[in-house]
Amino acid sequence: MTGTAPVPFTADDYKARMDRAARQAADAGLAGLLVAPGPDLVWLTGYAPPAVTERLTLLVLAADREPVLVVPTLEAPDAEKATGAPALALRDWTDGKDPYALAAALLDDRGRFGVSDNAWALHLLGLQQALPDTSYVSLTEALPMLRAVKDAAELERLAAAGAAADAAFEEIRNVRFSGRRESEVAADLAALLRRFGHSQVDFTIVASGPNGADPHHEAGDRRIERGDMVVLDFGGLRDGYGSDTSRTVHVGEPTEEERRVHDLVREAQEAGFRAVRPGAACQDVDRAARAVIADAGYGDHFIHRTGHGIGVTTHEPPYMIEGEERPLVPGMCFSVEPGVYLPGRFGVRIEDIVTVTEDGGRRLNDTERGMVMVD
Ligand code: ZN
Ligand code: ZN
Ligand code: ZN
Repeated sequence: MTGTAPVPFTADDYKARMDRAARQAADAGLAGLLVAPGPDLVWLTGYAPPAVTERLTLLVLAADREPVLVVPTLEAPDAEKATGAPALALRDWTDGKDPYALAAALLDDRGRFGVSDNAWALHLLGLQQALPDTSYVSLTEALPMLRAVKDAAELERLAAAGAAADAAFEEIRNVRFSGRRESEVAADLAALLRRFGHSQVDFTIVASGPNGADPHHEAGDRRIERGDMVVLDFGGLRDGYGSDTSRTVHVGEPTEEERRVHDLVREAQEAGFRAVRPGAACQDVDRAARAVIADAGYGDHFIHRTGHGIGVTTHEPPYMIEGEERPLVPGMCFSVEPGVYLPGRFGVRIEDIVTVTEDGGRRLNDTERGMVMVD
């Protein structure tokens, strides 16, 4: 089930994104956006340099002018092949020249620019030195919702990535867990994600027994035993868009308490999902899920936000967290992933990617949410 490849994005698609970004930047009072190689550049232009290096590559976007891509001469031929290139003016620079002077000539000193979060400090400091009166703000801080609302073509990719992750879960629940190391099951998961069409695996968490109580435990040498709860949380990119899902399985028959905590997290996940509708605040999703866990007396054991956005990366705005009052808008995609973590004992997390529709939420993951028993 690798599925058919989606219809590729066109130069017009990228041009529309660049226009929208430049307009939003101007509306936010910025002189422009400076975008380094990374997810923002891929989303805006389709260009991903083969390797991100100390050589400056920078997209300069401003509302009143044509987008310019500053690029090292040796990488210019690749950049010209990017789908979004027709809308870009390329300015290349050769080794030995000062790329910051070249970029500075395109910027307005005294201006305030939004900079992609992953731009190297080396480059930002270089620009600052060339233009001492400019100031900078992180792109995520200035325009947190720039990539948050997905169009139909993006939703199709995210749904396909979700279906592929679900297919991986359907396979992994049938493999042997007891007696194997977490790292071996994690390797199985990575292979399955690739088999179902992922080009990139970002994480394959296999957290067994007490390791499950650490939400950031990846996978280690621990041998999984009968009686363990095992948190599985895995995802990556398929056709450029992300998957991210969690299920918590049990090796053999669970205890009454394990069942109760699992049911509680499932109920919290359901409550978070039901809070998804246009106009609700992001924090309402967090509150709905958290209330279920707090009411059951486990509030201190739910130690992270309820969710994060997903798109060309597996973690991005919007965040489902207390204090995030921005409204949900149809087309947004994010995780709903409450958990309960009992130190030294076990953890449970259940996660689906959900997209906002006109009349509520639609899940992009749909495997069994009840307790699954494995061997
Ligand atoms: Zn157990
Ligand atoms: Zn996850
Ligand atoms: Zn997640």
